[in-house]
Amino acid sequence: MNPFLELGIRHEVVNAITELGFEKPSSIQEKAIPVLLTGNDDFVGLAQTGTGKTAAFGLPLLEQLDFSQKHPQALVLCPTRELCLQIAKDIEKYAKYIDNVNVVAVYGGANISDQLRQIRRGVQIVVATPGRMLDIIGRNAIDFSQVKYVVLDEADEMLNMGFQEDINTILSETPDDKKTWLFSATMPREVRRIAQKYMTDPVELTVGTKNTGNANIEHHYYLIRARDKYAAFKRIVDSNPEIFGIVFCRTKIETQEIAEALIKDGYNADSLHGDLSQQQRDKVMKRYRERNLQLLIATDVAARGIDVNDVTHVINFSLPDEIENYTHRSGRTARAGKTGISISLVNIKEQSKIRQLEKVIGKPFERKQVPQGTEVCEKQLFSIVNKIQSVEVNEAQIAPFLPGIMENLAELSKEDIITRFASLEFNRFLEYYQNAPDLNIDANDRGDRGERGERGDRGDRRQGSKGFTRLFMNLGSVDELSRGDMLGFICNNAKITGKSIGKIDMKGVFTFFEVEDAEVEKVFEGFKSVDFNGRQVRIEVSGDRDRNSADGGGRSRGGDRGGFGGRSDRPRGDRRQGSGSGERRGGFGGERRDRREGGNSGGGFRDFSGKRRESKSKY
Ligand code: ADP
Ligand code: MG
Repeated sequence: MNPFLELGIRHEVVNAITELGFEKPSSIQEKAIPVLLTGNDDFVGLAQTGTGKTAAFGLPLLEQLDFSQKHPQALVLCPTRELCLQIAKDIEKYAKYIDNVNVVAVYGGANISDQLRQIRRGVQIVVATPGRMLDIIGRNAIDFSQVKYVVLDEADEMLNMGFQEDINTILSETPDDKKTWLFSATMPREVRRIAQKYMTDPVELTVGTKNTGNANIEHHYYLIRARDKYAAFKRIVDSNPEIFGIVFCRTKIETQEIAEALIKDGYNADSLHGDLSQQQRDKVMKRYRERNLQLLIATDVAARGIDVNDVTHVINFSLPDEIENYTHRSGRTARAGKTGISISLVNIKEQSKIRQLEKVIGKPFERKQVPQGTEVCEKQLFSIVNKIQSVEVNEAQIAPFLPGIMENLAELSKEDIITRFASLEFNRFLEYYQNAPDLNIDANDRGDRGERGERGDRGDRRQGSKGFTRLFMNLGSVDELSRGDMLGFICNNAKITGKSIGKIDMKGVFTFFEVEDAEVEKVFEGFKSVDFNGRQVRIEVSGDRDRNSADGGGRSRGGDRGGFGGRSDRPRGDRRQGSGSGERRGGFGGERRDRREGGNSGGGFRDFSGKRRESKSKY
């Protein structure tokens, strides 16, 4: 008999989850479902991410609710919109063969009237983020008087995000005799306090060791100089041609900067953070899920709970501020029994954090060496060979062209042809990694010693973009300007087009931007007497070009492609890099990108590890 049936799940649901590939319950499901099916207890379930908590509460809910009634009977609270949508979708999938199940996802950043309409039409299960839920409660638009179950999913994260008060208020709207089921990956004191305050004698279950990472995840770290971080990161990515990864940064600014640098360097990457509109986030997630993006650059909050299958690598571009977030980050890989690798890029000073993390996850990190240029080239070469071996040949479509092709290549020997096909892609890497320095450092190194000399000797130091002048402006991200706004602001005042503007580096209270040498005067002229929110805008020539040089970043690897070997295996047009961020930049994005992709901008790369302070929300 199907083990879910044995647990007491009805046929219709078992059929639906079988279609989803659920053959047997995960441990949290196996343990939680029987308890929750009694409907008598409050419940606390502690389990690592990726262990199947959604079904652990979702399946029992489907057994307990009365779907002939149309009032809310279950409320699921979770920290982010992505998670909210995901849970709602998952429950709908489990309920595929049950009639009249109505689930509504209630989250901020989307049209509230649609959500209100859905609620009015009648729903039994409300999945919500606390903020929007409160809003709807405040409008008296929902009746929670017959709620039987409240689920607090990712409770630790909801508290981290400061939803404590909101949760209190929402819970007070629900009947006293409801049951509360709390799920969390970790059990900090605050979560414990919630359990004590709102629950009576909860049944407590822990799956795996508390706070411990998933056993299928390997934890690697690379020891590098702070300033080499981006270069090292690219090497790691390049030596994993099939990578499908999530890259974590600490702030949304960093997220955006890395994504833009990667796009510029020809990778399929985009960023996901709290500054994007709901629509933009959905779009990025859709592209990632459909694998039109290879690298998703995200903040902790934005990526919380994201469930995308087959993520091969989680990369901690910056280690998380909160040590507990490491578990959440690495939990994005190795889902549903798969394996995955969690990579951390650390400098000398951060080594002690690795020791701390080892204690938290209960197993050692493995130190890895940043691949040498030649190793990257080798990996790429064999990836090309694999692709040639496994490419699906569409006989019918290619047939008409074959005679012509054969004729053209008739002169070449088999060996020649093989060499040339392989070289098509390989050459780019070969060129890029020629003379690439060793980026690994000694664990006892004190830091930047000798670095400049080495770099200089190899002729590897780069100045700002050729033909551009780097300017300083006394407005920055704290002025609530996006890069697109900044670009528009410069162009409008200087009366120049976006094409004349190069790299824009927005910092907290100031910005560096590059302008074509020929247009610099126009910028000074245009900004003679401009003020922004009552502040005189000041432009100066930046004096610190050199500070900006670091290995690798600026050199484009040939912009006419998606960066990962032509991707003949991914024919969709939409995968072209940067379609998301282009939009975000407004009308100038396209122009800028075209110029960038067209050739070597050659600009140096900034040191991403630099301390950056944001006065506003960072995520
Ligand atoms: P968590 O909330 O614990 O982080 P999820 O509920 O998001 O985990 O589940 C993680 C992944 O595992 C999802 O893709 C889900 O579809 C899958 N999954 C859950 N339960 C099972 C099961 N019993 N068998 C196979 N896959 C499962
Ligand atoms: Mg979950």
